[in-house]
Amino acid sequence: MKHINTICVQGGYTPGNGEPRQIPIIQSTTFKYDTSEDMGKLFDLEASGYFYTRLQNPTNDLVAAKIAALEGGTAAMLTSSGQAANFMALFNLCSSGDHIVASSTIYGGTFNLIDVTMRKMGIETTFVAPDCTDAELEGAFQENTKAVFGETIANPALTVLDIERFAAAAHAHGVPLIVDNTFATPVNCRPFDWGADIVTHSTTKYMDGHGAAVGGCIVDSGKFDWLAHADKFPGLCTPDESYHGITYAEKFGREGAFITKATAQLMRDFGCIQSPQNAFLLNLGLESLHVRMKRHCENGQAVAEFLDGHPKIAWVTYCGLPGDKYHALAEKYLPGGSCGVVSFGVRGGRRAAEAFMKHLRLAAIETHVADARTCCLHPASSTHRQMSDEQLLAAGVGPDLVRMSCGLEDAGDLIADISQALDQI
Ligand SMILES: *Cc1c(COP(=O)(O)O)cnc(C)c1O
Repeated sequence: MKHINTICVQGGYTPGNGEPRQIPIIQSTTFKYDTSEDMGKLFDLEASGYFYTRLQNPTNDLVAAKIAALEGGTAAMLTSSGQAANFMALFNLCSSGDHIVASSTIYGGTFNLIDVTMRKMGIETTFVAPDCTDAELEGAFQENTKAVFGETIANPALTVLDIERFAAAAHAHGVPLIVDNTFATPVNCRPFDWGADIVTHSTTKYMDGHGAAVGGCIVDSGKFDWLAHADKFPGLCTPDESYHGITYAEKFGREGAFITKATAQLMRDFGCIQSPQNAFLLNLGLESLHVRMKRHCENGQAVAEFLDGHPKIAWVTYCGLPGDKYHALAEKYLPGGSCGVVSFGVRGGRRAAEAFMKHLRLAAIETHVADARTCCLHPASSTHRQMSDEQLLAAGVGPDLVRMSCGLEDAGDLIADISQALDQI
């Protein structure tokens, strides 16, 4: 299948003669076998098939195959949430005593995951600004660094990652670059084309797109040569005693090792799989992703341009604005548009931001982004409230920041709503 628009609609599933046109929801925890021998082969990873939905489910795999095709990867798995996807992508490479290099302007939930919870597991992280100098980036690496992590478009800071630069640095140190591509989606950017090795998604956002189902996804490019760096990745390059001595990188090659290990080991042990019902809903979203992203971006651009000229607005961050700090990177990595999320500061700071939001009629206050309905959030008093002022500023989320996720409504109606709310403060 060729164009991304076609993959959105038809990727991942080609029904045979007389089979359902829409993907079937396999609502079954378990699968039946004629002999114990047959099942034994699955447990030895000698044959591929299904035995228990905590590890794998056919509905999920159809949707994962579509997302793998969208990203241009070789294998993918769905997870119960974006948090689970990022945790498993990192934990598939790192264990106690290891180290990660991460962009400082990542999603607050991911920041907490790696800065607090993964530290408790003995995995340390050094954060660097996405626009740090080459020397700062180089200086962040250690002997025990196992991965580099960033977001194509950061939520909610809206910085754009220089994927090629971060990939080059990661590869110079023999480790993969993991890119969370939630905001751009593969419709607007395919990080593998720029050197990233693993892509993650919170499918909860644009991919589902209707605020219906929490979910995540991990995609492998199949390009990283684990065996060439076998000393760094014993989990992939030495026998797994919990799987009868299988060596993933040898048995499944570059194309399959990463996702097979994440499925066989991490899904087995953590069980954070997406429900097949949610995978079905996700696929409905994917079928129109290419159409919706275009409208989200048009509305984001129109709202950003309106806010940019408004006297009650202190600043606007949207990489589609020519004056934006990340406009040049956006022209390179996001030529077809970025996303529908716009961040801005209301003059008068925290108080003014809260007053403005109270007067909005169409844009609802929600801890969410990237669905059909426009919504907004004040991160400093909600999603990011665990962070100190210092951490907030490092994450690119000042106390006055309002994040507005432009939905699929009419741009004129959205601007009229924003305009009347600003008039009242
Ligand atoms: C929302 C989000 C996450 C977390 O995803 P959940 O599905 O909420 O667990 C991770 N990364 C980014 C960029 C996000 O926007």
